Amino acid sequence: MLNPSIHRLDLGGFRVTSILAGRFSLDGGAMYGVVPRPLWSRATPPDDRHRIPMTCNCLLVEADSGERVLFDAGIGQRFDERGRDLFAVDGNTSLTGSLRLAGTAPEQITHVLFSHLHFDHCAGALVSDSGRLRPTFPDAIHLVQDGEIEDGMRGHSIMKSSYVSEDIECLRASTRFEGIDGNQEILPGLSVEITGGHTAHHQAIWLHGGDQSLVYPADLLPTRQHLRPYWIMAYDMFPHDTLTTKGLFTRRILDDQCIIAWDHDPGSPFSRLSETNEGVVAIDVETA
Ligand SMILES: [Zn+2]
Repeated sequence: MLNPSIHRLDLGGFRVTSILAGRFSLDGGAMYGVVPRPLWSRATPPDDRHRIPMTCNCLLVEADSGERVLFDAGIGQRFDERGRDLFAVDGNTSLTGSLRLAGTAPEQITHVLFSHLHFDHCAGALVSDSGRLRPTFPDAIHLVQDGEIEDGMRGHSIMKSSYVSEDIECLRASTRFEGIDGNQEILPGLSVEITGGHTAHHQAIWLHGGDQSLVYPADLLPTRQHLRPYWIMAYDMFPHDTLTTKGLFTRRILDDQCIIAWDHDPGSPFSRLSETNEGVVAIDVETA
């Protein structure tokens, strides 16, 4: 029987499982940018260090054609004591542990598709083995936008610490690591689309199966709280692009009745969207 913490959907030709790859916390003010604390703290109560709980929800997509694609690899477990304390990293949740609960071994992953290369999205693709780094998914092709690789290698970010260039270099050297040039179909029914906003080459991932579509917007819409137009992370390189693009994405998701998969929301990982007098809200999707 499937573990009750595993959320899974069937989407004509694809089996989609949300994989809890980590629990951590980030500063609430940074997560909501210009939004005043009295507003965001009502929506997401912070801890006594002003942090709010976050998850790294990766997606495992198993195609009927045999491929097993992982969207993002989460925050990993390679923290020193200070980092573990700073981000309140939960040492009991791991990407490979959650994948195993979902019935998948790391060796079975054929593709790792990164939305972008910030450490909380790619650090889990490497593990430390007696102090030496090795790939978590040795047999997988690792894919991300070309421009994101360049920006990651030179640490082009609001915060220097968002990219760990040594990790990116290690992934390039030890895995099949390939750049994507623009919007592309990766497999039939699975495509990437550049969103910009969070980083210049940040990409969302779309799945079209049968008459259903699902989008993983990653850090364009990291949590359901970010459906509000002006709730934009202070980490975003181009916040006005985030504002515009997330508005367009929200409209498409509503019009096409797509399922949205949240990358950092600690609540239910899959939602549909609904327009109400209070704005756009997320409605949980029933999962197996
Ligand atoms: Zn990010």
